[in-house]
Amino acid sequence: TAEVTPISEKALNSILEKNRAYYTQGKVADYIPELGKMDAKAIAFSVVDKSGKVYNTGDVSKKFTMQSISKIIALMIAVNEKGEANVFDKMGYYGTDKPFNHFGNLETMGKPLNPMMNAGAILTTSLISGDGEKPFVKVLEMVRYITKNQSIDYSKSVYESEKATGHRNRGMFYIMKNSGLISGNEDQLDNYFRQCSIEVTAEDLAKIGYFFANQCTRFDGDITYKNAETAKLIESQMLTAGMYEFSGEYSRTVGLPSKSGVGGGITVSVPGKMGIGVFSPSLDQHGNSFAGYHMILDLVKQYGLSIF
Ligand code: GLU
Repeated sequence: TAEVTPISEKALNSILEKNRAYYTQGKVADYIPELGKMDAKAIAFSVVDKSGKVYNTGDVSKKFTMQSISKIIALMIAVNEKGEANVFDKMGYYGTDKPFNHFGNLETMGKPLNPMMNAGAILTTSLISGDGEKPFVKVLEMVRYITKNQSIDYSKSVYESEKATGHRNRGMFYIMKNSGLISGNEDQLDNYFRQCSIEVTAEDLAKIGYFFANQCTRFDGDITYKNAETAKLIESQMLTAGMYEFSGEYSRTVGLPSKSGVGGGITVSVPGKMGIGVFSPSLDQHGNSFAGYHMILDLVKQYGLSIF
């Protein structure tokens, strides 16, 4: 399928302006107190095309925390280190039917549903080798590598805020420790909180989307981590569970592997083609960026990007 019109910053900007007002219909996440301080009106839209060229519009220098988007990076590292079979021996490939922080199936099935919901993501991070902060540093370094942006770091204040209030996550951690799925100490949970607090821009997210869309090839062509199977695994998880319990409807309307976070970012992979990054912190009832979703939807319709 040929790309109809080439992407331009002007085209992105008109999509952004058309959807800007959606922030009024959602709500900035405040269950992590520090996240509640975000500017609800901030909005950014970024695309990296097949050739690696970057198109930006809106508040593209605005940083926000990755939150759940960090789960795909941790999954890639855990699978590269332990092998897919060992990771998925401990959790399922199931779609998400409940809110991100649900205990769903930890008791009944004895395992997390998938690595995209919090339980599975906390477990995934605990599977990355190394003591103390090491697993987190691997996630941070991988985000820096994929985006080619060494200035990326994590927000200490968001991290502290998550650590102080993340009692549900702590509960899941200890249920999994009780059942033997997790063997380490609470440093491993801290690493999950830290990875969620990594700060990025919409452009960084577009580059992450590009990476998984192109068999783990970086936007500048670097093939250090090239691996078609890993990319397929990550993209399939994004498609079935990346947008929380909205994933099914999203695959009908957008039809692209995507991962959102409660910081207001969404990263999108257009397989074999481009990466898309959006940011607008006002969220819908599922925890997905309200305006972000609508910008993606418009771009996908305009350029015929659905995989279906
Ligand atoms: N750090 C957040 C939490 O565990 C991530 C949730 C999300 O982005 O869905 O509550």
